[in-house]
Amino acid sequence: MPYVIPFKGLKEGDYEFDFKVGDSLFESYSRAEILGGDCTAHIDMHRSETMLEIHASIAGSVVCQCDRCLEDCDVPVSFEGDLLVRFSDRTDDYDGEVMWISPAEDSVDLTQYIYESIVLSLPYRRVHPEGECDPDMLARFGVMSAEEFDRRAAEAENADNCGIGEEAAARLAELKSRMESQSGADEQSES
Ligand SMILES: [Zn+2]
Repeated sequence: MPYVIPFKGLKEGDYEFDFKVGDSLFESYSRAEILGGDCTAHIDMHRSETMLEIHASIAGSVVCQCDRCLEDCDVPVSFEGDLLVRFSDRTDDYDGEVMWISPAEDSVDLTQYIYESIVLSLPYRRVHPEGECDPDMLARFGVMSAEEFDRRAAEAENADNCGIGEEAAARLAELKSRMESQSGADEQSES
């Protein structure tokens, strides 16, 4: 287990650990959100009688699908966060900030914490820097989005009375503005 801190036998005090976070972590989670990556996770840990106080610094980059052209793009990762690992036989749900483990354990596994921290640190919109998208894919996506827009507009009209979700509404608005800016460009080039 690569992202494990063995604390059994450690005296009270401060410790540091470094982990390489590579493709294997992202491949072990079958969600396609992150396709690969290369990061380092630096862990500062204070061990006391009743808990481990952990500060994690994760830096590097991951590979995601670009929201604009759908090709792979590198997204920088920069995460700082704190985690308390409390020793108790009372085991509450892990909520991302406090983890409970039995005093009988020898080590704590940070795999899920590291993975989730990286996912949470990613921007909502993951795109190539301006001008670096695949132009062929953009052209194809432009054609697709016209059909997509009609379909979604029809769906939205049907769903009007029950209301559409905020996310769907935002996507629709984004799609609409993209269509308008494209048709605007067409008109300009014709005149
Ligand atoms: Zn792109």
